[in-house]
Amino acid sequence: MRPFYFAFFLLLSITSVSAQVVLIDPGHGGSDCGAKATVKLDGKNQVICEKDLALSIALKIQEELKDDFNVFLTRSIDRDLDLQERADIADRVQADIFISVHLNASHSRTSHGFETYYLNNHDNAAVRRVEEIENVDSEGDQIVINQILADLVIERTAPSSKKLANLIHQNIGKRIENKYSLVDRGVKPALFYVLALSKRPATLLEAGFITNDQEIHTILSPQFQRDYAQSVANGVRKYFKERPSPNLF
Ligand SMILES: [Zn+2]
Repeated sequence: MRPFYFAFFLLLSITSVSAQVVLIDPGHGGSDCGAKATVKLDGKNQVICEKDLALSIALKIQEELKDDFNVFLTRSIDRDLDLQERADIADRVQADIFISVHLNASHSRTSHGFETYYLNNHDNAAVRRVEEIENVDSEGDQIVINQILADLVIERTAPSSKKLANLIHQNIGKRIENKYSLVDRGVKPALFYVLALSKRPATLLEAGFITNDQEIHTILSPQFQRDYAQSVANGVRKYFKERPSPNLF
């Protein structure tokens, strides 16, 4: 092989090996619908499941990022997947970051807005209610193990995860807050086990409340989902530009 071609192929392989790996995790799936809401669409009542919207948004985030990164999804179809299986995929693909996509729900139909989480300890009762929903398939001994693991992961990844969450959240705010009149509920620490189990810089997005009558119509709109996905992608790009040193186990 002539030196020029050799150098070209070498460059190609270095580029593909060194591309950062982003793992996007659409929450819930299969028999786990996640949050549920009944919405009137075209005059008919329809049940909306969080799992479907999470997948739809996750696919759009993948689309936005795929030219710049190696992007994987924990699920690309509607199927059951427990929290440990999601984390195992993070190990398998050697993800640099893990982004879990969810939609919020509340007994109060007036609750609304977007929020972004990173793994850390906290003392916030409202956050604890969100944790109860998202940690749903951990119980008993598993919770204790997950809590120990969470402490270790927090120690190693909290600054990177907080940075990732902040950059994504700022970009969502810029594009979404005014255009769609969505309220910014902030970046918050929480003990989501899927973030602990993933063992890498990670964030969990709650894109909006499907239990809010106005907000669910916004979230269902493909344009909103695209804008949201673009904002997340911009945050990810910024994170890798300003990336702190890798912090994996
Ligand atoms: Zn969820």
